Amino acid sequence: MRATAFVKGILTSPGQPRRRCHRNPHPGTRQGGAPTRAARLPRTATGMPMAAALVALAAMTLWAAMMGADAAGAGTGSGAGRLAVHFIDVGQGDSILILAPSGKTMLIDGGPADASERLIAYLKEQEVAKIDVLVATHPHADHIGGLVEVLRAFPVGLVVDSGKVHTTATYERFLTLIDQKNIRFRLGRAGDSIDLGPGFAARILHPTEPLPENMNDCSVVVRLEYGKVSFLFTGDAERDAENAMLKSGADLRAAVLKVAHHGSRTSSSPWFLKAAKPAVAVILVGAGNSYGHPHRITLLNLADYTDRVYRTDVDGDVVVTTDGTTFRVDTARGGP
Ligand SMILES: [Zn+2]
Repeated sequence: MRATAFVKGILTSPGQPRRRCHRNPHPGTRQGGAPTRAARLPRTATGMPMAAALVALAAMTLWAAMMGADAAGAGTGSGAGRLAVHFIDVGQGDSILILAPSGKTMLIDGGPADASERLIAYLKEQEVAKIDVLVATHPHADHIGGLVEVLRAFPVGLVVDSGKVHTTATYERFLTLIDQKNIRFRLGRAGDSIDLGPGFAARILHPTEPLPENMNDCSVVVRLEYGKVSFLFTGDAERDAENAMLKSGADLRAAVLKVAHHGSRTSSSPWFLKAAKPAVAVILVGAGNSYGHPHRITLLNLADYTDRVYRTDVDGDVVVTTDGTTFRVDTARGGP
């Protein structure tokens, strides 16, 4: 699927009227004003593309988790049967690097554009030579802003996108680069799975068609299960998305939860946390951000349902490594 052709289709399809996000919760995303070139593209005959084929996961496994925390240092890489998940401190935004035991790499979001230099340096430090799967949870600038430079800096095998169109120059640049570099592009929809090497896959739990109006609720939510240790990456999903996932009956249990929407009050409802039962929760959030993230109520809810909350504004980069039975958490600032 061509990324820009997809956008042409969605912007001109009679069933998909042009829409702007009804609010703009993040800075740096253009709202109002003249539409960008992508929005002015002529009608295409291609219409809506098909979402990627579904590949069912073979088996469910039991969930259990043990946790150990210590100072930053050795042992945070993948390989030798270990999975490493890096919650990278990109300020106010999300970026998560997954190093699979197979050697495959997945990057979920790329933080804001002004953090791209740090992000790229971080990826190189981790000896990332290629990004096999790049997931853009939704097109707000604090999630895809840094991905433009990532696409320039690294070979990318596949881009999985929400397909929620955002008429910003950043989103257009992102899609254009995907096409220029001939990168495979597909939509992430509930039920899809992402291959991360033999016997190992990530499953997409959200969204479903038709996409919600609220851009945050269009976030591609990914659940990763490695042996007995599971991870849930929720993007900026808010309450409606959480309710939809609960209603779907999907397994939401997660030893490690990426807290949705930077700890906003509009996410992490008690009933969602109760279903996820995370041993550890990680909030990606910028110090002194203007949104008041994370919200006090969310922190109280998290305290009820999880043993330990890490946050990138306090702990810096947070790295979880697991052999599929137990896991450990290391933080850049080495806090308790
Ligand atoms: Zn965000």
